[in-house]
Amino acid sequence: MKKYDFLLVGGGLFNGVIANEARKKGKTCLVIEKRDVLGGNIYCREVEGIMVHEYGAHIFHTSNEEVWKYVNDLAEFNHYINCPVANYHGETYNLPFNMNTFSKMWGISKPEEAKKIIEEQRKEITGEPQNLEEQAISLVGTDVYEKLIKGYTMKQWGRECKDLPASIIKRLPVRYIYDNNYFNDPHQGIPKGGYNVLIEKLYEGCDVKLGTDFLEDKETYLNMADKVIYTGTIDSFYDYCYGKLEYRSLRFEHELLDEENHQGVAVMNYTDGETPYTRKIEHKHFEFGTQEKTVVTKEYSAEWEDGMEPYYPVNDKKNSRLFEKYKELGEKEEKVLFGGRLGEYKYYDMDKVIESALKFVKEKLL
Ligand code: FAD
Ligand code: UDP
Repeated sequence: MKKYDFLLVGGGLFNGVIANEARKKGKTCLVIEKRDVLGGNIYCREVEGIMVHEYGAHIFHTSNEEVWKYVNDLAEFNHYINCPVANYHGETYNLPFNMNTFSKMWGISKPEEAKKIIEEQRKEITGEPQNLEEQAISLVGTDVYEKLIKGYTMKQWGRECKDLPASIIKRLPVRYIYDNNYFNDPHQGIPKGGYNVLIEKLYEGCDVKLGTDFLEDKETYLNMADKVIYTGTIDSFYDYCYGKLEYRSLRFEHELLDEENHQGVAVMNYTDGETPYTRKIEHKHFEFGTQEKTVVTKEYSAEWEDGMEPYYPVNDKKNSRLFEKYKELGEKEEKVLFGGRLGEYKYYDMDKVIESALKFVKEKLL
């Protein structure tokens, strides 16, 4: 049996960076991936010339110069800027929360007017916000919370806003200027030709076994390399010995439509509590596509159960405590190292995954 320097479990972005760095140092890698394609959640499928973000909309954004250079050395990025629109029972509002949102919500035009209204509506929150609801009201007041946050968040997380950590909403900018850019980072875009361009370069030269679950023959695979980098869920690696970590899963409904332009924007969030999906993506707008047809995807959120894809870690107190126990087990391993969104149970964006993989290589691997 061939022996490799590194066995990479999971063919996502984290292990892609490991593979790329390993190749530069002349090391050999075997990749074992459960799905039939490489790329993890950033994989794109081409339909009628449109790159479809098969596992959810992905917009690259970063303020890390090293990471921006790293990805630009591998792929050319377009100038897409994410400006999603919220749809509340047919009323549309610009996101993130900015003067365009406030102006439409209250029929005002000046920052001072918006500040005054929010100041009045947030009076009920005194002291440090203790949960997502308090944090949201404290940032943007009750009207924006009721129309644009409450329903969306409950659908997304399947939990009351009162039972979620404040940190989740702190990701979103709140601005008193007319600026619909969803992100504050100086660099943003989508790789021309889709994320697969990036993935193909990262995994160049690796041996790859697709459609293969590492856990089904763990002992055999463990013997195939000197080091194993595992990017699946850490609790499954230990056969859930301390119990199951919670994840949010998603279901995607892709549709090819005989229309040129369905919703006029790449991302439309449905922020009411009644529409069963959280958002609708029109993929061609990520690339300024001019095709005759269009592909739209409805994204439904669900509690993770066996057999589903675990997309989001649920970083509340209960799960964070349980994760710490698995992490302790992981730290005792000599041969196996854990990384990535599932291995570290962290709500990582792509740039943070690259940053963490580069650090991992330097400190633990090469
Ligand atoms: P993953 O992509 O999850 O890869 C792990 C891989 O391991 C998977 O392919 C899985 O099949 C495989 N695997 C798991 N267990 C096994 C096993 N036992 N055997 C074999 N293979 C296994 N980030 C941004 O920067 N911008 C965005 O706009 C953005 N949008 C997102 C939208 C959604 C819906 C989601 C879910 C994430 C989004 N992200 C975004 C985050 C981004 O997807 C991640 O940061 C990144 O893809 C994580 O890479 P990874 O390699 O850690 O994990
Ligand atoms: N959010 C919301 N309304 C929106 C968009 C976001 O209430 O229209 C909240 C929601 O709780 C979400 C969080 O803000 O989980 C973070 O949003 P982001 O778009 O960063 O989530 P992602 O899908 O990238 O994880």
